[in-house]
Amino acid sequence: MMLNKQMYEYGSKSSVIRELFAYGLERKKIVGDDKVYDFSIGNPSIPAPEEVKEAILELLEEPAEILHGYSPAAGDPEVRKMLADSVNRKFGTCYTADNFYMTVGAAASLSITVKALTNPGDEFVAFAPFFPEYEVWVSTAGAKLLVTPADMENFQIDFEAFERLLGPKTKGVIINSPNNPSGVVYSEETICRLAELLERKGKEYGTSIYLLTDEPYREIVYDGCTVPFVPKYYPDTILCYSYSKSLSLPGERIGYILVPDEAEDSKRVMAAVAGAGRALGYVCAPVLFQKVVARCADVSGDVSAYRRNRDLLYNGLTKLGYECVRPQGAFYLFVKALEPDAGAFSEHAKKHDVLVVPSDSFGCGGYVRVSYCVSEKTIRDAIPVFAEIMKEYQKL
Ligand code: PLP
Repeated sequence: MMLNKQMYEYGSKSSVIRELFAYGLERKKIVGDDKVYDFSIGNPSIPAPEEVKEAILELLEEPAEILHGYSPAAGDPEVRKMLADSVNRKFGTCYTADNFYMTVGAAASLSITVKALTNPGDEFVAFAPFFPEYEVWVSTAGAKLLVTPADMENFQIDFEAFERLLGPKTKGVIINSPNNPSGVVYSEETICRLAELLERKGKEYGTSIYLLTDEPYREIVYDGCTVPFVPKYYPDTILCYSYSKSLSLPGERIGYILVPDEAEDSKRVMAAVAGAGRALGYVCAPVLFQKVVARCADVSGDVSAYRRNRDLLYNGLTKLGYECVRPQGAFYLFVKALEPDAGAFSEHAKKHDVLVVPSDSFGCGGYVRVSYCVSEKTIRDAIPVFAEIMKEYQKL
């Protein structure tokens, strides 16, 4: 039978991350849970804040036909207003419900936005290391993803390399800060430079280049680090948000797209977002969780356990001689592999039941991603194993 080749390929080759995670589960059955150091997946290890549970319990008292019924496609207007008010309080903006479109998480926020913007031949530019699903969302929308090589020094932006990829076909640029997999937060200077360049290039080509900012980790930052609110720096920004990480709700599938009025053609962009949501069959985001996140809009999860894990892992590994940038946010450490082939290094670590993701699928070679959204014990127990791995490489 003739199937859609691209869909068949995406469906039959699971991601390296998922493969490692599945391997870890099987391996745990054989050697025991505490003998497998699974740093493969970004599943939040901190429970959802208590306010989430309270909101759910309260909401269960609402009439079932409202609670479990459809909402308008863009989401419950009252929910969107509550989210707009919360964003306005935090960032001094003037958004309304009409600027928000509720989605089933950042994956949907991004895939809908890319589809909404794309015409055949369009290009999007991302920055290595990047979340591998971008390639899936961009190519299935009919556009091409161009990747700016990583700035290996500090994982900000290599502007010279980036500028070379911009052209009249550039429809959008995708950024993700705090970043998966590097944990780096783009500085205000980086965002200002990016905004200035996109404005200049847009004028040069007579187009608007949309800046898609993928922000599931916005609230997961340490040491008082602030994440610049991108729409304040560049008007043609579309913000793709999710509560998967900030409220530890990845399985509930809830987030939003924010299209500010200042963005070029914003009303028509919002209409195209609704059209893309419709085309992808989303109908509306889960209504119970729309209402939960609206009630928890000002709740910030306690990230101190992630910070402790970051310190433990970063200090532990660097002391052993591993090289990595100190993450300011998210819950990943991007560690230089001990041999040029990151896949081979990951395989070697796997022999010690240490599961780390090779960086190749993030668009750059030579590193592994270590997700530290795990128990503190997993990190403590894994450090001596990382030491053993280091010793083996030193002997080579
Ligand atoms: N973007 C990035 C950078 C991510 O790390 C993830 C999930 O890990 C997503 C998007 C998708 O998140 P969601 O669960 O909200 O769809």
